[in-house]
Amino acid sequence: MEPLFTPEQLAEIHAYHLPYYIRAAVDPFARLGLMALQLGVLVQPFHRMATAAAAGLEHRLGFLRTAPVSRVFFQAMDRLWGESGWGAAVLFALLTDLFIRLVYTPVDTWFNYTLEHRHGMSNYTPGAYAWDVLKEQAVTTLALTALVIGLYGLARRVRRWWLVLGVPVALLMLVASALDPYRDLLYYKQKPLPEGALRTRLTGLLEKAGVSFADMRVEETSVSSRRVQAYFAGQGPTRTIVLNDVILKEFSEDEVLAAVAHEAGHVHESKWLGRIASSLALVAFLFAIDRLLRVSASRGWFGATRFADIRTLPLIWLLLFCVFLVGKPIAGAFSREREREADRYALRLTGDVESFRRMLVKAARVNKMDPEPPRWVVLKGMSHPPIGERLAALPPPP
Ligand SMILES: [Zn+2]
Repeated sequence: MEPLFTPEQLAEIHAYHLPYYIRAAVDPFARLGLMALQLGVLVQPFHRMATAAAAGLEHRLGFLRTAPVSRVFFQAMDRLWGESGWGAAVLFALLTDLFIRLVYTPVDTWFNYTLEHRHGMSNYTPGAYAWDVLKEQAVTTLALTALVIGLYGLARRVRRWWLVLGVPVALLMLVASALDPYRDLLYYKQKPLPEGALRTRLTGLLEKAGVSFADMRVEETSVSSRRVQAYFAGQGPTRTIVLNDVILKEFSEDEVLAAVAHEAGHVHESKWLGRIASSLALVAFLFAIDRLLRVSASRGWFGATRFADIRTLPLIWLLLFCVFLVGKPIAGAFSREREREADRYALRLTGDVESFRRMLVKAARVNKMDPEPPRWVVLKGMSHPPIGERLAALPPPP
């Protein structure tokens, strides 16, 4: 069989991936340093700035407190927070997030825009890129506000808040994946996969696999990226088969079938153990935050003057960072095992090893995957086995 890449292509792929590997090695230390800077130096000035800004806003927009419609909002926020003063807390949270984001903006722009363009992987125009960054920032702002009001507000009012918050959020996580089909609509246009041979064959394949689905859609990701992509979003009645427009252009029908057969393998994974484990981990994590908030309050860490003082937020980020640092290699190992099993499932389902092999080869070429990334990069938490490994695991050609 011909090699996956020519030596020239391989050299380009290494040049493309090397910055990512350097970032993977350096980034944990950079983030730790930034968090130490926030905790050690910036917490107090940021808190003073947020308090002053909130007071200024109150002065100027205070009439909204009594205006007919906005009054309801302010009353609800006061009640959720337990008192007034939530404005300063939210501004403090946004300020700490904005600080990290601004520090990372040059790095992120270079990786997500410059490097991707340099290697022909991106179709972003500067305007479209900036728009997506803004949209993401808007989502983060909303999520942070909800987190601050939800977590800190509840902790201030309810003694066993970690249980009161943990159980419903854990339950919410269980059903959240049912909403997956709608998340991507924020970024990409979708349309139904047209009737025709491909749709008929995919329907037959999924019937054979016993996978029910609501719809098959084409996602127009080529506005930003040249990568091929196929995934299933949602669960049961909301399950949607999503193919991007690039895969339809680059792959033959047999190859699309191979990719979808792999995704069908994921549907049959038993997910309950993982779901129960992550629900328990969430409640345990919230309990750890509760202990941390209590110690911070009693010792007056970072100027905290009371339980659930917003100035402890960077400490929670640090705790979360440590959990991810330890958790990602473990989650990655489980994920890679699931991917291997999905490959084996796809081969059993279609019985078409050659199309599956061509699908992997094309995916590797179009997406410029490193066939043999450094072992430490894999162990640090790659979600898929290296493409070289996946190809080597296939039965040899006849
Ligand atoms: Zn997979």
